[in-house]
Amino acid sequence: MHATGETVPPAAPFSDLPGPAAGQSTGVDKAAEGPSWHRELAAAIRDADRLIDLLELPEATREPARRAARLFPLMVPPSYLRRMHPGDVADPLLRQVLPLEEEFHEVAGFVEDAVGDAGSRRADGLLHKYHGRALLITTGACAVHCRYCFRRHYPYGEEPKRLEEWNPALKAIAGDRSIREVILSGGDPLMLTDVRLEALVERLAAIGHLRRLRIHSRLPIVLPSRVTARLLDLLTGTRMQPFMVVHANHARELVGDCADALRRLVRGGIPTLNQAVLLRGINETFEAQRDLCETLINLGVQPYYLHQLDRVRGAAHFEAPDAVGLEIIKELRRHLPGYAVPQFVREVAGAEHKTPI
Ligand SMILES: *Cc1c(COP(=O)(O)O)cnc(C)c1O
Ligand code: SF4
Repeated sequence: MHATGETVPPAAPFSDLPGPAAGQSTGVDKAAEGPSWHRELAAAIRDADRLIDLLELPEATREPARRAARLFPLMVPPSYLRRMHPGDVADPLLRQVLPLEEEFHEVAGFVEDAVGDAGSRRADGLLHKYHGRALLITTGACAVHCRYCFRRHYPYGEEPKRLEEWNPALKAIAGDRSIREVILSGGDPLMLTDVRLEALVERLAAIGHLRRLRIHSRLPIVLPSRVTARLLDLLTGTRMQPFMVVHANHARELVGDCADALRRLVRGGIPTLNQAVLLRGINETFEAQRDLCETLINLGVQPYYLHQLDRVRGAAHFEAPDAVGLEIIKELRRHLPGYAVPQFVREVAGAEHKTPI
């Protein structure tokens, strides 16, 4: 294989800060220096009391939020918080991040590894489930902790942290000419510093049969300052065709600095798609999905998937019936251009692709 890794200082760890589940990080640990997104990330709310006080939420939310935040830590960046309506416990953005008592409910069928990730590991940090595409778990860290997250129990601590620890995964990709596309996922791959991201992307670009680089990230939505000119250069600067798949669930996320960041991606020449999750109490109505899809296309972002919730332990209260999603899609077809209607899918362990419902 290629040896570009040798030019990278081996001391750079891929993670060493607290993040979700397993204490992960990305090198963003000197908040006072560097780009503004590092400072914004450092200013994220990680404390249930602070969230409740800042948003003036009812006292009754406090104790459950403190308790459930111990199952999966709370994390909300300031930009995302600013888009919430104070005093409204039903706010669709708040609902995605507020820890609730319901997370303790044991519901049959809701398990730790809901999507069969463990069975598709090809090397440390490498998941290969589908033909032609391989997925790298680049970090366990995220800028926001979504309470419904299907990877809330993922054993991130076992994934590579230093650049040289990627060698087995890169070797596996280099050795399989059927792989044409690498998906950088996580956690959130844009939590990596530009230096680390660039080092990884360069090593991927050196694998001749890779044609496309896809980034799955929620940072353009929750930490829009991450979409810098340097990031755009980095993603468009290789011989691989870049794609960006962002993750927004509600039209109210797509305002202000977030809308600006999406425009930067689109005008920067990066095809940008959105995947959403159908979430009870957040976006399980026709109106919510219509507004989401229409706002996306107005920004030049194409709705890609509407995912049925992965049945992960602690997230049962977010599940909406398949019939609700199907009815929404039917209505979307009647109201929106064909390209604005996402595919309603679920992840079935062992299936060869996402499964249309
Ligand atoms: C979802 C997923 C993909 C991407 O699937 P697409 O249908 O191409 O978006 C690739 N690999 C894994 C492991 C996935 O979970
Ligand atoms: S849904 Fe995505 S952004 Fe949210 S916690 Fe999970 S991996 Fe992170």
